[in-house]
Amino acid sequence: MGEFLGLSFQPGERCCNFSAGPAAIPQEVLEQARDELLNWHGEGASVMEISHRGTAFMAMAEKAEKDIRDLMAIPGNYKVLFLQGGARGQFSAVPMNIGGKGRAADYINSGYWAKSAITEAQHYLHVNIAADGKPSYSAMEGLSQWRLNPDAAYVHYTTNETIGGLQFSFIPETGDVPLVADMSSDILSGPIDVNRFGIIYAGAQKNIGPAGLTIVIVREDLIGQADAACPAVMNYASQAERDSMYNTPPTFAWYLASLVFQWLKKQGGLEAIAQVNARKAAKLYQCIDASGFYDNNVEKDWRSRMNVPFILADSALDTPFLAEAEKEGLCYLKGHKAVGGMRASIYNAVPEKHVDYLVSFMQEFERRYG
Ligand SMILES: *Cc1c(COP(=O)(O)O)cnc(C)c1O
Repeated sequence: MGEFLGLSFQPGERCCNFSAGPAAIPQEVLEQARDELLNWHGEGASVMEISHRGTAFMAMAEKAEKDIRDLMAIPGNYKVLFLQGGARGQFSAVPMNIGGKGRAADYINSGYWAKSAITEAQHYLHVNIAADGKPSYSAMEGLSQWRLNPDAAYVHYTTNETIGGLQFSFIPETGDVPLVADMSSDILSGPIDVNRFGIIYAGAQKNIGPAGLTIVIVREDLIGQADAACPAVMNYASQAERDSMYNTPPTFAWYLASLVFQWLKKQGGLEAIAQVNARKAAKLYQCIDASGFYDNNVEKDWRSRMNVPFILADSALDTPFLAEAEKEGLCYLKGHKAVGGMRASIYNAVPEKHVDYLVSFMQEFERRYG
């Protein structure tokens, strides 16, 4: 048991999980999955052990699609694909599907993940960096300064930089050029206008469910233009024609995502969860800003509501901070190795109470060590 908060946390119990990804999944969802693990829907087997083409699995898949469509208000002229290969797979799939021959694409460089998408896209087409992060990605250039190319095949951006903790609070206007968004770490964190996008993609392991599933929401007119060399598993047309079952889909991850969608509906949908997310983030940033001990370098308008990186005034205190936090059951707070320091990821599945504990712990740690 930790001595800071006096919680009755015991090693071996489920902790307050601030992992960046794979990340927390709602406890109720895990309990339901546990309860129906051995014999799913009377099938006499687990959901992992039956055909994806059977009636029960197909019904689950249909319901999952309907639920995410309801949650995000996805218009009828968009397909929702349940794929594999992660967001990094989409770094290649996007240029292969909609890059066209000999064309260029605009990329917004907001940090680590945007840069990774750029590096991959450069294998397929000419990349124009239309906007860049200000020093150390503490903010982005204003939209009016972006150097968008009206002939670009598409504009790609990363709605939330999971490592840097920078998040767009607006959807960039790109005219007729399709907007493509990597929403891996903030999809379903609040309502968005899907109509503004050509493609939205997200690996599931941040804000949806377990790793192995990749959601792609793609406007129908962008399907069917893939390069001939595009692997069929990555080709939106072959996957859309076969309801994301061109090859065997990640059945367990798909099922678990379906439970998360139902859980989100029970929470009141995306408007409701957005309010909780705003409160959680505000509490954490207030704690950081009120102290001279913790620091977050992202400008206020650009701060992420999902991933809150922060440093301690003295990095020699990093190790005791993490060790004492863990004793209180506050886990996985170590920052990404690319930036160091700490990071609290506070996705949908992280209860507000856990953020309250973290804030209390940080205040007490500062009182003793600051
Ligand atoms: C985690 C992450 C990725 C990489 O996802 P994989 O599923 O591991 O390929 C890409 N973009 C963002 C914004 C991420 O958070």
